[in-house]
Amino acid sequence: MDRDLKIYFTVIGLSAIVLAVGGVLFLQGEFRRQQEGIRNWRAIRGEYMATLAQNVQGTLKDTKDLSARINILHDLQAEKAERVKGVFLWKKSDGIIWQEGLSETVRASFPTNARWHAVGTKSLSAPRGWTAPVTNNADIAVAWARLGGGEVAGLEVDLRDNLTGSNPRNLFATGVCIVVLLLLVLAAGSLLLVRAARRARTESARKTTFIDNLSHELKIPLAVVRMKTEHLLAGKVTEPEKLRAAYQTIADENGEVIRQVDDLLDLVRTGKGTRRYACSSFDLNLAAREAIDALRDRFSTEGLKVKLADRIVHVNADADAVRQIVRNLLDNAAKYAAAKGPVEVAVACADGRATVTVADRGDGVPPDQRERIFERFYRIDNDLTRTTGGTGIGLCLARCFARDMGGDVTVAARPGGGSVFTLELPEVT
Ligand code: ADP
Repeated sequence: MDRDLKIYFTVIGLSAIVLAVGGVLFLQGEFRRQQEGIRNWRAIRGEYMATLAQNVQGTLKDTKDLSARINILHDLQAEKAERVKGVFLWKKSDGIIWQEGLSETVRASFPTNARWHAVGTKSLSAPRGWTAPVTNNADIAVAWARLGGGEVAGLEVDLRDNLTGSNPRNLFATGVCIVVLLLLVLAAGSLLLVRAARRARTESARKTTFIDNLSHELKIPLAVVRMKTEHLLAGKVTEPEKLRAAYQTIADENGEVIRQVDDLLDLVRTGKGTRRYACSSFDLNLAAREAIDALRDRFSTEGLKVKLADRIVHVNADADAVRQIVRNLLDNAAKYAAAKGPVEVAVACADGRATVTVADRGDGVPPDQRERIFERFYRIDNDLTRTTGGTGIGLCLARCFARDMGGDVTVAARPGGGSVFTLELPEVT
């Protein structure tokens, strides 16, 4: 693991620990504060209820008019709105004569197993069926007062510890969940980072290998050019036939260097999306034939079988780019498979698809690497590639070109052994 990553993980790890410890301490504090509030409330709620009951009696005892009583009860309710959920007037002979807030909706807001308790003014006894005083586990209580004439006025009071309904233990558990979640997110982030770092390291290693390979690919033809030029300059070659061969070699090796440099420029341009294509309509048979002719001397007479389409196959593409793709597929077949059997090239068209297939009898491409060989700088790690020149950009360029022109390059296993590489382009009718 490199230094930056170590620093990152140390910082992330320490922050996570500080955060987790801080979070747990904070939640513990919150939990304690809430417990404290609950204890305080439990200590004073009996008194709270008695005061309410006295308020009811005190404010209503001299008022006889029903609407005035209702107004007073309304005001009391508004004043203690946080806990007073309902008000009522009750007469022994008529039952409930007025009530507000004691609707089913209000009752429904309490748990179904809510416990009801009643508390009255000291001098009064609770109506039958009501219990007093307020107990620790009461949820709702009635603070009531007898007004005379068989009338009772009262307030229904929410006695629960925590009016928001949130259980302090739940708060604690939620907090712990949040901290755990946070740690999980951090862990996932770190994993992603490790993967990104690994990818960057692989890419960087591939680039180094690529530069190494490219240097060899350039050095060999340049060394040949230098040697031939020195021979010519020293006057060692005099026969016209040998002179011509020497010039031809210089031209060929120079062409190889230019091809490598062009590939490099193409790689940069396709990466930036600035590669330009001069598209025109042409016969795919002709382009394939030209590419094959350029590489024919890489195969024995029996080693290359060509089957062109029996009619003109029009495609609208960049002929140079198409030739370059086919050359690359053939060059690979020559490098990696020609020793194992003949290579078959075919041009065909069906269902609006024009194709050039290059089928060989080589070792094939392992299934898990059939996509990877189209990544830039990727080369299968085996003896064959280790002993064969290459830079790992040919197939990447081939696919980029094909896709830019509306087609694709793919590889599949060939029945009986080997691979089939296919260049596909839309056919123009
Ligand atoms: P290069 O040939 O310069 O290494 P390419 O991009 O053309 O780069 O090919 C990428 C890799 O795909 C090669 O290194 C080789 O491992 C694999 N490959 C390509 N063509 C064939 C083939 N016909 N048979 C087996 N492996 C192949």
